[in-house]
Amino acid sequence: MLDIVIIGAGITGSLIAHRLSKFDLRVLVLEKESDVAEGATGANSAMVHSGHDPKPGSFKCKYNLEGNRMFPDLCKELQVAYVPIGAFVAAGSPEEEEKLENLVKQCEERNVPYEILSGEEAKKLEPNLADRISKVLSLPTTGIVTPWEVTIAAMEEAILNGTELKLNYEVKKIEKKDDHFIINDEIETKIIINCAGAHCDEITEMLRESPYHVQTRKGEYFVLDHLNGTFVNHVIYPVPGPKGKGVLAVPTVHGNVLLGPNSDEIEDKEDDSTGSGLDFVRTQISTTMKNIPFHKMIHTFAGLRPHIDLRDFYIQEDDQIKNFVHVAGIESPGLSAAPAIAKEVCDNIVLPKFADAKERKEYLRRKPFINMEKMSEEKINELIKKDPSFGRIVCRCEKISEGQIRDVINRKCGARTIKAVKMRCRPGMGRCQGGFCEPEVVKILARELNEGIDEIRLDRQGSNVLVSMAKEEL
Ligand SMILES: Cc1cc2nc3c(=O)[nH]c(=O)nc-3n(C[C@H](O)[C@H](O)[C@H](O)COP(=O)(O)OP(=O)(O)OC[C@H]3O[C@@H](n4cnc5c(N)ncnc54)[C@H](O)[C@@H]3O)c2cc1C
Repeated sequence: MLDIVIIGAGITGSLIAHRLSKFDLRVLVLEKESDVAEGATGANSAMVHSGHDPKPGSFKCKYNLEGNRMFPDLCKELQVAYVPIGAFVAAGSPEEEEKLENLVKQCEERNVPYEILSGEEAKKLEPNLADRISKVLSLPTTGIVTPWEVTIAAMEEAILNGTELKLNYEVKKIEKKDDHFIINDEIETKIIINCAGAHCDEITEMLRESPYHVQTRKGEYFVLDHLNGTFVNHVIYPVPGPKGKGVLAVPTVHGNVLLGPNSDEIEDKEDDSTGSGLDFVRTQISTTMKNIPFHKMIHTFAGLRPHIDLRDFYIQEDDQIKNFVHVAGIESPGLSAAPAIAKEVCDNIVLPKFADAKERKEYLRRKPFINMEKMSEEKINELIKKDPSFGRIVCRCEKISEGQIRDVINRKCGARTIKAVKMRCRPGMGRCQGGFCEPEVVKILARELNEGIDEIRLDRQGSNVLVSMAKEEL
């Protein structure tokens, strides 16, 4: 029998698995999609908020503050990027300046570092701030990450240390038997941790009436091509409104810029289409920014916030069903809070139940993905000499070689779909959005997996035509 089953491989499930993998426990992660980070974790603003904003006294506030402090060390440990880019909250009217004062008070109370800048001071640092901006709250401890990269790295390291991951496995049924649970009539476990994001309430309903109901709220974005600081250098927030933090301009770790999101309640928990929300984003962004390079737009996407009616994170062992742990309502700032959530769940709820569990003596560390962009010419030449596939560029926009694609496939938690390759090493993320490189990626996947190409699973936008073409050309 397993010790612990985690349902959902987003950032919370994966960081919990990672923390538990340091102990000698039998842990299994179940994920209904074909890769990790396919839910809210794969589509968001990618920011580690400073903690200036959540409601005082809330769990969102507590875990955001703690998570923000943990993130730099966590990213160092996992060998993924963390950029302490800093943020500006931009006010442009007496009412907005008054709201800024409230945020300043919260920063003081929470020991969040801040500075107040006049409009002119701020515009020297951010020349594309809208002319109306008269005052800015600067938050230097705001960071940016690539959320799926953190998730993949955490899961990869957990698997290296004994954790099991089952992808394409949807939990449909849970029964409670004496001192354990049975999942889908086949998996027996002592403890369940419910990290199922937008579907947390449905998982709970398999055992009891859920104490919360998830209502998804869609947020849509424009993605701009590499601008590398020519448009914006910090994250730019408007002053928060009734629907949260508002429409942002966010530089990404890879030099793109995100513009978004809106916030619209939707019924279908899987509807990540984009459409009318983008008109709202386009109008709202001009309240904080000018000279917006919309002609550099290369992609749009939407993420779904798992909002619960309790309006806060719900992280606790169930009060009726022993050993069933809720990690629910993890909407924003859930990414920022995730390391602290994992610590709370593991150290205060789950590990005390395994008093005899020993820490692993030898903990294996993952190697970072091979990033040729960051290498010297000398190192690149050495690499190509050892393995010529690093000299074959597959993605011309992002300059990704066949060797890099092979690296991300042949790992624990390795890529199994076109999208999974894209999320790990970026072919298809650039200007052509995969138009040129996607058929090549399919062929490499088919060759490397070597299990018969019928078993390659494509992402939702993937095309079977590409698979059969690869089959003929192999
Ligand atoms: C538009 C938007 C912007 C955001 N911006 C930020 C930000 O800048 N900073 C920040 O801190 N937070 C942000 N957030 C919030 C953050 O993205 C989430 O809080 C976080 O990603 C939640 O992670 P999770 O692991 O709890 O859930 P998810 O990532 O949704 O993972 C849940 C997983 O459970 C799986 N699952 C569901 N049901 C089942 C089942 N029956 N069987 C097996 N698996 C199942 C799903 O497939 C999914 O992979 C934003 C969210 C959105 C939507």
